Amino acid sequence: MRLQLDLFLLLVLVVSRVVCTPLKKSEDRKKLLLVSFDGFRWDYDQDVDTPNLDQLAVDGVKAKYITPPMLTMTSPSHFTTITGRWVEDHEVVHNMMFNTTTNLKVPHKESMKRSEWWDNGVLPLWITAQNQGLKTASFFFPGGGVSYRGQAVNRTRLAEVGHPDDNVTEWRQNVDTVVSWFSKEEFDLVTLYFGEPDNVGHAKGPDHPDRKKIIAQIDYIIGYLRDAINNHNLMDSLNVIITSDHGMTTIKKRPQVDEIILNKYLNLIKLASFEILDYGGFGILTPRPGKEQEVYDALSKAPNLTVYKKHEMPESFHLGRSERLPPIVVMADLGFNLNSRFIVYVNKGDHGFHNGEMDMKMIFRAFGPSFKKNFVSEPFDSVHIYPLMCELLQIQPEPHNGSLEVTRDLLWSGGESHRTGLPAALLLWVLVWLSSVV
Ligand SMILES: [Zn+2]
Repeated sequence: MRLQLDLFLLLVLVVSRVVCTPLKKSEDRKKLLLVSFDGFRWDYDQDVDTPNLDQLAVDGVKAKYITPPMLTMTSPSHFTTITGRWVEDHEVVHNMMFNTTTNLKVPHKESMKRSEWWDNGVLPLWITAQNQGLKTASFFFPGGGVSYRGQAVNRTRLAEVGHPDDNVTEWRQNVDTVVSWFSKEEFDLVTLYFGEPDNVGHAKGPDHPDRKKIIAQIDYIIGYLRDAINNHNLMDSLNVIITSDHGMTTIKKRPQVDEIILNKYLNLIKLASFEILDYGGFGILTPRPGKEQEVYDALSKAPNLTVYKKHEMPESFHLGRSERLPPIVVMADLGFNLNSRFIVYVNKGDHGFHNGEMDMKMIFRAFGPSFKKNFVSEPFDSVHIYPLMCELLQIQPEPHNGSLEVTRDLLWSGGESHRTGLPAALLLWVLVWLSSVV
């Protein structure tokens, strides 16, 4: 009896330590690298020899494909990934910063530096992680180069206008830099962006041999990244997610099709006070006062596009509640380009089309200590990457539109934070049993 009482007290001590001591999260926390290859369509690896991407699928997880948010464009989609919010909530509604009242239009690269375009009340992951004690960096990643509520990302690299996107020597240097941030400077989260294969996809089209070449180069740099992770002994402490922002489709041109020239259907100068139309398959315009119905009716007659009044867009677009989007939104059918007055458009490939089109879907791969191996996931929406990243970093997410339930499958069952669950339950059971004996 005496022995049982001693054992009982000992068990009380042990159980209370296991149950009451909060998990020392910082010891278990893994680091996270998020890599984005702009415009990497989901099937780009299927007609090119990609040994490193293939090995990733064996050593980690692969989604069949993932779906970008509606508005399949670089800045809006990247910001959904890093905030877990739909475009109507984060309000980065175009690659170009614009103002419909002043008619201001700021080009894409330049808008990367404008906090007033990005900082609309929704906090991206870098800032949330920093506010919870983590160290973060952004390397060329859209949205990483500005301040949110006055707070900047701990370390930022911004690509200058005209920066070459396909230089493999620079790619290696960038990977070396980022990996050393993890190994030598204890960064917890780094986002790394590559401008390819988007550029080649636009310039040559997704079916051109040069697109296959750039995919082979991307495959090489993924192998280089894995070697760097090994050489810096980060295999057990670093999780890596590799994804993109949208796909790419071939633009249909004359004489194959009748290209869209919007001015044939409405007098743009007379009816619209603001427009961004010559930008692939997605167009926006502000009708002059009292002209909204006239603009809508005129565009409804144009073939190969769908015109929406902003507030009447389908709920599933998650765009209609945006305050920033102008009242009229035009979406061309897959492969059609929106021209306002003349055909000056030289791109052979583009995006910006409906996110339900398979050509707009993109890749998702992940590997590292927290991910399953040789696991193929069903497709999911990119908005769900955010809660997954918060789980991996063990931080409290901001309000978001994603769900961890969608991506939890990718992780080893139970996950890090439940490690003490089973022993604690077992000890409690013994304790209850003993107390009945004593
Ligand atoms: Zn693009």
